[in-house]
Amino acid sequence: MEGMTDRNDDLFDAARAVIPGGVNSPVRAYGSVGGTPRFLASARGARVTDAAGREYIDLVASWGPALLGHAHPEVVRAVQDAAARGLSFGAPTAGEVELARLVAERVRVGDARPVEHVRMVSTGTEATMTAIRLARGATGRDLLVKFAGHYHGHSDGLLAAAGSGVATLALPGSAGVPAPIAAQTLVIDYNDPEALAAVFAEHGDRIAAVIVEAASANMGVVAPLPGFNRLIAETAQAHGALMILDEVLTGFRVHPAGFWGLQQESGEHYLPDIITFGKVIGGGMPLAALGGRAEIMDLLAPTGPVYQAGTLSGNPLSVAAGIATLRLATPEVYATVDAAAARLAAALDAALTDAGVVHAVPRAGSLFGVAFSAAAPKTYAQAQAQESFRYAPFFHAMREQGVALPPSVFEAWFLTAAHGEEELTTIEAALPAAAAAAASATA
Ligand code: PLP
Repeated sequence: MEGMTDRNDDLFDAARAVIPGGVNSPVRAYGSVGGTPRFLASARGARVTDAAGREYIDLVASWGPALLGHAHPEVVRAVQDAAARGLSFGAPTAGEVELARLVAERVRVGDARPVEHVRMVSTGTEATMTAIRLARGATGRDLLVKFAGHYHGHSDGLLAAAGSGVATLALPGSAGVPAPIAAQTLVIDYNDPEALAAVFAEHGDRIAAVIVEAASANMGVVAPLPGFNRLIAETAQAHGALMILDEVLTGFRVHPAGFWGLQQESGEHYLPDIITFGKVIGGGMPLAALGGRAEIMDLLAPTGPVYQAGTLSGNPLSVAAGIATLRLATPEVYATVDAAAARLAAALDAALTDAGVVHAVPRAGSLFGVAFSAAAPKTYAQAQAQESFRYAPFFHAMREQGVALPPSVFEAWFLTAAHGEEELTTIEAALPAAAAAAASATA
């Protein structure tokens, strides 16, 4: 079928006539894998259907939010009920109180409770942008430390060495970011304790915050080395800086209390000052949040001097989807997703081994993906050094067999609780042909 034009090609042509690149978020354009993006018409459970009526088992899950599977009936009903009561009020609602409480209650392990107050926004980008402004307001300092290959949204100061979409496009950052703003961000290597020590040794009294993905998943999946997140917390604290733990992707996806919760349970104890959430917290609707200790969070307007606002913040439809999703995201859901991830990661590893492809299957909780390198990358440089040309044929072979993977090797594969025996068996059966395609790829 590849090569024939269909409704997706027609739509892509039409889209490019009115939308830059035909997409509203760059990585959707298939830039790194080539071919026509699938325009999706509907999604249910573990499956998506494209504009030509073809169905795929989905391993994108809307880039994370669809933890329960697409269009979970109870989430859809909650949104419909909310819509019937009014789409947006620009006034506080009872639902926001409930969701903030849910978040604060879930993000605790034993006595450790980093989230006391929660501010809701609409996107992960807003959450990290606000967290950074808050950290600057709280410390009276300007500099921000971020890690190469970590993505925290597309605000100006965060587009230096920003992984995934930017990595896919092979751009160092972005045009349009004024040099003086970029200069406020210090980019260091991930998983590198010496780089962390060095940046604080040189700039320690000017650093407002370190922002870090709780587990990095935008340069492929790259878990923090044991102790690295705790080291960030301790180093920041020793220098009067804050630690912003970005759980936009991992929050409520890998564990009821996020990747932080997973680490607490494995004995790595640390307390971030601000945590950002997105994706799962909105259950597929535009919602994100930041949370932290009350004394820090209350520096936000109207209680404090750090301004932040939003016409659609805490939108009642998004809040309804978030509440329903978090209520349905029981320990059983996480156990189901964990088991499916372990099974698929093993099948992926076996298929690539059988095909003789040099590879690793990096994991962070239930997040996993593929890296075409002998060892799982620990840094952005290592992630970029892999044989990424093997991904496009692998991706297309999977798609031909009805499995939709993320269109970039630098993205995690997302499972949902709706991926059952039938879906997993189908994915497993598709892997050998995709591995063979990867094996015969040439740079
Ligand atoms: N932070 C992380 C870790 C992310 O993965 C993303 C998006 O993928 C963001 C922030 C930005 O979120 P949004 O796309 O909702 O602006």
